[in-house]
Amino acid sequence: MIFLFGSLKNKLKEAVSKITDKIYSKGGIKEDIEPNETSDVTTSEGTTDTEKTTIQCSNNGKNIETKISYEKESSSINTVKNDKGSAKSEIGFFDRFKLMKTIKKVLGKEVVITEDDIEDVLEEMELELLEADVAYDVVEKIISSLKEQLVGKKISPKENPEEVVINALKKAIEDILSQNKIDIYQIIEEKKKKNEPAVFLFVGINGTGKTTTISKLGYILKEKGYSVVLAAGDTFRAGAIEQLEEHGRNIGVKVIRHQKGADSAAVIYDAIKHAKARGINVVLADTAGRQTTNTNLMDEIKKVARVVKPDLIIFVGDALTGNDAITQAEEFNQAVNIDGVILTKIDADAKGGAALSIAYAIGKPILFLGVGQRYCDLMEFDVNWMVNKLFGEDENMKKVISTERDF
Ligand code: GDP
Ligand code: GDP
Repeated sequence: MIFLFGSLKNKLKEAVSKITDKIYSKGGIKEDIEPNETSDVTTSEGTTDTEKTTIQCSNNGKNIETKISYEKESSSINTVKNDKGSAKSEIGFFDRFKLMKTIKKVLGKEVVITEDDIEDVLEEMELELLEADVAYDVVEKIISSLKEQLVGKKISPKENPEEVVINALKKAIEDILSQNKIDIYQIIEEKKKKNEPAVFLFVGINGTGKTTTISKLGYILKEKGYSVVLAAGDTFRAGAIEQLEEHGRNIGVKVIRHQKGADSAAVIYDAIKHAKARGINVVLADTAGRQTTNTNLMDEIKKVARVVKPDLIIFVGDALTGNDAITQAEEFNQAVNIDGVILTKIDADAKGGAALSIAYAIGKPILFLGVGQRYCDLMEFDVNWMVNKLFGEDENMKKVISTERDF
């Protein structure tokens, strides 16, 4: 099995250990036996996960795989080795102090953390986080937030140093992940009141999972009772239209298409017209994957955005590509002002840095995470969920990811 954000989680764990050790080396360790009062913490986390999974994956076994007969030109997934080894961590490290009856504390006196105490640990942490694909700006922000919160902090013999450090790190990470939220269902509802479809335009480079993600979202929206139409706006890649049509058949959603080579904006425009005429709630528009260095194609997507006037432009990035996904997001954001991000292949990403960094890098929220190859494997992104994943129990992670994948 794969642990979500495995490497990142381990690096955070190491940093907490090292900072805590510094505190102990200053104040000495005292071990107190205390009652285990907060052991329900695991259950409450588990509930959150289960809820998220059941909303999207409990369709009477109709958890159809997104894999279709169409052969992809390139699929990065098979070539990626999952760093399962390093992701194998002690279960529940971050909650251990809550579950343990033996609580470590500093000896009888108060300890004040100085910059000198944590300087070298933070330097090491900087490199470790960069290795886990965390973007440079995000690493800097975490380090400065930790310094701000911890330097000068007094730890009394009553406090658990580990808890103090974890809370500081949690706060740093929450701040980074918290960008303005977008509620796609509210957008759909508002358009519905005006008798208009909500139009979501998907952009990104080739192979990041755009087509699959559109189909997953189509499936989920349909499950939630909305009517959906897909627009085959990738008129360039061989087989792209057929691929979307097959997904459409699988999830029972109509696909509006023209011929290969047709004008992408025209296809999407037609899909919107179709949706308006039939009172369909949502248009999900595919576009051809394009490299941001290709000025012509970036101009083309600008034109599509201008003509189509989507309610949301959603960038689809591949978590496995780490910092590249972030650079792409920045470039698409510059070109067409994206509204939000969907990061795919989280289930196969052993590092986790892209998921931590992307929203902060562009100041736009992550809307969903792709976590597998079934139509239901698209999770609504939630800051608390991610923080829990990073600091909570590994056991709970099993529940959010599909066990039916075939890779
Ligand atoms: P596009 O070129 O951007 O439209 O990419 P596709 O939708 O064709 O997807 C590329 C590959 O990524 C396919 O093999 C998908 O099955 C795979 N894929 C997409 N999303 C996910 C995901 O969340 N997890 C995993 N494991 N694979 C995914
Ligand atoms: P390259 O020219 O060697 O990079 O080969 P490509 O296969 O990438 O592109 C061949 C032609 O198709 C070029 O004129 C590209 O500008 C054009 N092209 C490439 N990708 C797209 C796309 O996504 N949409 C459209 N409309 N044209 C594209």
